[in-house]
Amino acid sequence: MTERYGAKKEKKMEFHSFLIKYGEIGIKGKNRYIFEDALVRQIRYALQSVDGEFLVHKCHGRVYVDCEGEYDYEETVESLKKVFGIVGICPVVRKEVKDPEGLKKDVTAYVGEMYPQADKTFKVEARRANKRYPMNSMELNCALGEAVLDAYPEMKVDVHDPEVRLNVEIREEVYIYSEIIPGPGGMPVGTNGSAMLLLSGGIDSPVAGYMVAKRGVELEAVYFHAPPYTSERAKEKVIDLARLVSAYSGPIKLHIVNFTDIQLAIYEKCPHDELTIIMRRYMMRIAEHFAKKNGCLGLVTGESIGQVASQTMQSLAATNAVCTLPVYRPLIGFDKKEIVEISEKIDTYEVSIQPFEDCCTIFVAKHPVTKPKMEQILESEKALVGKIEPLIAKAVEDVEIVYCR
Ligand code: ATP
Ligand code: MG
Repeated sequence: MTERYGAKKEKKMEFHSFLIKYGEIGIKGKNRYIFEDALVRQIRYALQSVDGEFLVHKCHGRVYVDCEGEYDYEETVESLKKVFGIVGICPVVRKEVKDPEGLKKDVTAYVGEMYPQADKTFKVEARRANKRYPMNSMELNCALGEAVLDAYPEMKVDVHDPEVRLNVEIREEVYIYSEIIPGPGGMPVGTNGSAMLLLSGGIDSPVAGYMVAKRGVELEAVYFHAPPYTSERAKEKVIDLARLVSAYSGPIKLHIVNFTDIQLAIYEKCPHDELTIIMRRYMMRIAEHFAKKNGCLGLVTGESIGQVASQTMQSLAATNAVCTLPVYRPLIGFDKKEIVEISEKIDTYEVSIQPFEDCCTIFVAKHPVTKPKMEQILESEKALVGKIEPLIAKAVEDVEIVYCR
């Protein structure tokens, strides 16, 4: 049986399954199966691109990934680490059910392979799900503990705070595991509705998308470009970023909106120190249009208080005023350094810093207003009435959709 399984890359131990640990707070009753089904779905999605065949299933209130045949251990773990809702990943060795002597041999062999120094404090946590087995859980704890002590004199029992919790579960097969690899936490994507992310080519908005997806929210995205002022490469960069975020969030439907004529109209008709604010207000209006059309429950941006002129409290208020859906700004209290750290962790940083202009950097005033007055902005926008509506209608109609996965 053992030969059927195994890790392709060099990894001493051969694991045949992963037990997935997930947070249990707030998932009682009916919510529990919604949570678990979403988790199973997201795990399947994450493993699609991994070498190997996997069976993801729920069993006795737990989620398991069984690895059928050869698979890439490192890649599998890396992919599971991106699935929100997982708090721990336990690599499991599966053995046939044997009599107590055979079981002791399997367990001591596991300890020898996992901990070659064999000098840890440990505790056996046995569970007998298969009630036909001749020893109960307490008896198994004692017998297996003794077997480990006999085999490895440097191992010591510590029932209160052991370094190693040696889990041995007797089911249709015997499951042995002790290692818990931390998962990303959060909630499985798909358990909390969907939101429309305003995704630019910068550092912040991909991180904002990641953070909202972490709470179980499915993402769509919208990117505003202004050809020929922004290049094809800038657009490709945003598609690349959406793909990177989708490794965590699942597939993202990206709306690419041609903003050039709208931007030129604003440039022509409005005071230049208000350009960014007014542009941002039109972006929000168009993003909200797509959000509502597709049933998204909110908008998401990468804004953080005071980062630039368009993100002062006054500017945020002016931008916010055009929206009727809630606008989620998960980075609102973060310093740039903290945002950069997350972007490095989720692998978007290197793409974000590629030097292609996004549409906001072209039409920026030397001295933008930092404390826009609402009445003044509304007054300025009056100059656009009659001219901007058809431009918006056309931009919306000509939207290009790219599915990023
Ligand atoms: P980022 O790093 O996300 O680009 P930023 O620091 O450059 O952010 P701004 O350019 O002021 O900040 O943009 C603030 C937010 O507005 C962005 O985080 C993003 O959510 C949205 N946004 C800005 N430009 C665009 C765009 N061209 N397309 C879509 N959304 C945009
Ligand atoms: Mg930007």
